[in-house]
Formats: sequence, C-alpha cells, structure tokens
Amino acid sequence: MSAAMKDCISISSRLMQQIEQYCIAHLPYEACGLLLGTEAKPQTEMPLFVRRFVGIPNTAANPRRHFVMDPSVFIPYLFVPNPSHESIIGIFHSHPSAPPVPSVEDLQTSWIDVPSHWIVSIQNADQPEWQAYRYEKLHPNESGSLTRFKPLRLITTT
Ligand SMILES: [Zn+2]
Repeated sequence: MSAAMKDCISISSRLMQQIEQYCIAHLPYEACGLLLGTEAKPQTEMPLFVRRFVGIPNTAANPRRHFVMDPSVFIPYLFVPNPSHESIIGIFHSHPSAPPVPSVEDLQTSWIDVPSHWIVSIQNADQPEWQAYRYEKLHPNESGSLTRFKPLRLITTT
C-alpha cells in the first residue's frame, strides 16, 4: 500500500452529517461512539472505509470535558460475530467547546490500537470541524509524551 493511502480514511458525507447531528443532540456534553467499517485493503489500494456509526453513552464523571464509553454497550461490538465482516475501525467523540485537537486525556486512551480517532468540534454548531488521527504509542521520552498523533486525510463520498 502506498504511504499516502495508509494515511487516508473514507466516509460518506451523509454519515458525517448523521454523526454531527448525534453530537449536537448531546450538547452540552461530549458525545462518543464507534465507527464500524472495513479495514484497508493494501492489494487494491482501498483505504479504511467507515460504513456506520454506533453512539455509545458517555459515562464520564464530567461529561462536559471528558468521555468514557459505557462498557456494557460497547463490549458486545468487540465480541459478537459479525456477518458483514465489519470491524471497529475508529472511535469518535465531540468537543463541544474546543477545536478538533486531541487533549492530554484523549492521548491517554485505552483505545490506542483502533486505527482511527476522530474528533468532531461543534464549538460552532453551524459549522462542525472534523479531524481524524492515527495514534501511535511511543516509548517514554524526556518530555514524558507517550502517544504521537498523525492527522489522516478524509476522502468523503456522497
Ligand atoms: Zn477530546
């Protein structure tokens, strides 16, 4: 797979609108959930492809500033056999009053191995801002930073 394709992820604009509506409906709290779809296919140069999203209740103690996905709701998606071969290819959460940049807490995620991490900023609800990232765990260094994040390029389809 070309390096460029590895840094891409595909999603339909309609699905993005549905996720934006979900996030706006949960204001003033952060909304979160899973993105299900198909893995990248190196042999055909197909990038990660998001097919649908599943909203997961946010059980954080302070849901205005953090998100914790309710395990009783997301765990079945990890284990239930899936006839359409969908896998969890991303997680998303909203930033009700901040730009779509990972916070320190976001980078301490236990979802590090998920191939994409999406932030929907709805600080301007009329004009949501999206950014998807790939997170990579680094060895501890002098700055104490353990996670590096790299923006992914969105390929939107209609
Ligand atoms: Zn965040």
